[in-house]
Amino acid sequence: MAGYEEMAPGIFKVRQEVRKGWIPFAINLYALPGDKGILFDAGSGAKGAVAHVARALDGLEKETGSRVRRVLPSHAHWDHFSGVSPLAEKRRMEVLLTEAMVPLVRTRRCYREAYQESESALLPKGNRAKEAVRSLQSRLVDELFSVTAGIRAVTGPFTPIAVGDTFHTDAGIWEVLAGPGHCDAHIMLWNAESGILLGGDNVLSSITTWLGPPRSDIVAYQRTLESIRDLPGLSLILPAHGRAITDPLKRTTDLIAHRKKRLAEIREKVDAAGSRGLNAHALVRDYYPNMGPLKRGVAQGWIETTLLHLMQEGHVARTAEKGLWRYRSL
Ligand SMILES: [Zn+2]
Repeated sequence: MAGYEEMAPGIFKVRQEVRKGWIPFAINLYALPGDKGILFDAGSGAKGAVAHVARALDGLEKETGSRVRRVLPSHAHWDHFSGVSPLAEKRRMEVLLTEAMVPLVRTRRCYREAYQESESALLPKGNRAKEAVRSLQSRLVDELFSVTAGIRAVTGPFTPIAVGDTFHTDAGIWEVLAGPGHCDAHIMLWNAESGILLGGDNVLSSITTWLGPPRSDIVAYQRTLESIRDLPGLSLILPAHGRAITDPLKRTTDLIAHRKKRLAEIREKVDAAGSRGLNAHALVRDYYPNMGPLKRGVAQGWIETTLLHLMQEGHVARTAEKGLWRYRSL
């Protein structure tokens, strides 16, 4: 098996699966061969997963006679950048990064600190002993997950790139677009001639994109969705997870409406709780009554981000009560 699939002329999808670990996942990497061909996204850094991608790229180079010797992650989430350094070493690839990605991906420690050690929208900070236990727990979970999922920092030399840069490949010219919201350090590749967008995690076909503190931003995400919807001649979105989006206008319009509806819902629920307010746990249980704690921890991200956004906008305030944040309307 070739290990890649041509999605449109000169655009090849390499699907990488990681079955080990707690949450089996699959990611789509896109190879754009050319004199200075690019691999957009790098997936997991687990050995077998990297070997699969390297084999696919070697085969692709043989078939097309073009090269894929540069690698660029779409954003600073582990399942997009962890394969960068192992692939660069294995295949002598040039690493490309935006300035915004650099402080988040260069060491395991900076990545952990950028995400895990954030303030919770559910739990106020406890006393020092409690916080120490919490930090140790999160560190342990992170280490275990890191080993099974193949999280790797992007070490070694890299070439800085920026929004507005263009890349010439066999599939034409690709422009780097900003796409913050899901993650602040998120870019997309846009081909104006074919109307094809490599959208990273911003628009997925069957699920809504994860949002959660501290690096997601609801307003930025809405703007990104609108900017995608308004791309002239947009015909196809190739996402980092799941199926290709062949009706991009409808999908982005639906997602914009969905986010607006969710924002209004949370505001109404807090309003309805009156001056007593409600705690964020109750809100999460309302949406996900039967979900296990691990899955719920991921699913609740958008609720946390929404509450923090409403607080920032001055619509709600919170007070700590019995070890939980309680939110009420202002
Ligand atoms: Zn992501």
